[in-house]
Amino acid sequence: MDEKQHRDPRLKGASPWPAGARVAKAEAGKVNFLSFIGGQIRAIGARIRDFFRYFDAAGTGWRLRTVQGDSLPRNFSQRTVFLAREDGEDWCVGFLCPCGCGRKIELLLIREAKPRWDLTVDARQRPTLHPSVYLNDGCRSHFWIRAGHIVWCE
Ligand SMILES: [Zn+2]
Repeated sequence: MDEKQHRDPRLKGASPWPAGARVAKAEAGKVNFLSFIGGQIRAIGARIRDFFRYFDAAGTGWRLRTVQGDSLPRNFSQRTVFLAREDGEDWCVGFLCPCGCGRKIELLLIREAKPRWDLTVDARQRPTLHPSVYLNDGCRSHFWIRAGHIVWCE
């Protein structure tokens, strides 16, 4: 079989699928299988995330950590409201934005401040902030912290 016959499948006796094409088809099959498996793993991942979101809503929620002094620690940890307290006076609270954007939010509690927030803590040490927190730039999150849980406003 000469070169011309091999390349042109219309010619009698030539294979409609050159050897290279058969290999490519088999490879394509493998890729499809891998992307199928990838899709399954992603679906399972989404279910695990949903589970943890549910667990977050039903579980222990946010905790309060009090630090002595009129300033907050430089680094905040996840799901923690830091309270700066000096001589029995609550100065401010700080925490990471609950949307996950990584922004540090600091709110004043002292009476002279405007705007200011009220922090209350229940018997189980769960923080509640009043009023709600609204970020007017960036992620524009709007939420309440009530009894250690984030309540999102639409
Ligand atoms: Zn955010």
